[in-house]
Amino acid sequence: MALVSFVFGLIVGSFLNALIYRLGSCSRSIFDKDSVCPKCQHVLAWSDLIPVVSFFLLGGKCRYCRKKISRQYPLVELATGTIFLLIAQNFQFSIFNFQFLAQLVFACFLIVIFVYDLKHYLILDKVVLPAAILAAAYQLIAGQLLNGFYGALILSGFFWILYLLSRGRAIGFGDVKLGVFLGLLVPFPQTIALFFLSYMSGAVVSIILMAIGVKSLKDRLPFGTFLTFAAFVAMLWGEEFISWYFYQIGIR
Ligand SMILES: [Zn+2]
Repeated sequence: MALVSFVFGLIVGSFLNALIYRLGSCSRSIFDKDSVCPKCQHVLAWSDLIPVVSFFLLGGKCRYCRKKISRQYPLVELATGTIFLLIAQNFQFSIFNFQFLAQLVFACFLIVIFVYDLKHYLILDKVVLPAAILAAAYQLIAGQLLNGFYGALILSGFFWILYLLSRGRAIGFGDVKLGVFLGLLVPFPQTIALFFLSYMSGAVVSIILMAIGVKSLKDRLPFGTFLTFAAFVAMLWGEEFISWYFYQIGIR
């Protein structure tokens, strides 16, 4: 079962790569059947599209134009495989479960937003809005809609104030909209875990990037990338974190 969920994740990851590319391209629709090389536009054969394997067999280069294939492709595939494995493990591999299937779908949204924001410093409405609607429907079925609403209010409300006070310098308006989706996905009180984790991971990565000289204090970081990472962790382990935290401060 572990292998099945990992391999399924690899295949889905390869579709997510194509989706991320097409979302940022004006010449390709997300519904096009063929996949093409982003450099030479040659239509790819099935043997060029085996997740991870094709990348290594081709030596990281396109079969037709010999230009380099971005490392994003195998990395996203491996990450999606690992994430699907982690979610399946969290459900003890009882996979015919509504919550499990929903978490796989939300993980796909998180991966797309994560990679797209990292590449383009942009969070797309056509990704975030459907995600937010699905998250609201999911919490309605799970009987958590009110807590999801509180979560969305806390996150997007805080980001909106930050956006207004900094006149869009500290945070983009895309993050305000992303806060609605993530708050619904990770309902209150787990939203607090998401909040701390996104700022902590953002701070740790910034310090590392500054220490190795890749970024300076003035550089912007794609905050949506940290938010989606934190949302994934909070979606999987948020409840454990919150009960641990309440235990630490003596509430429980
Ligand atoms: Zn090519």
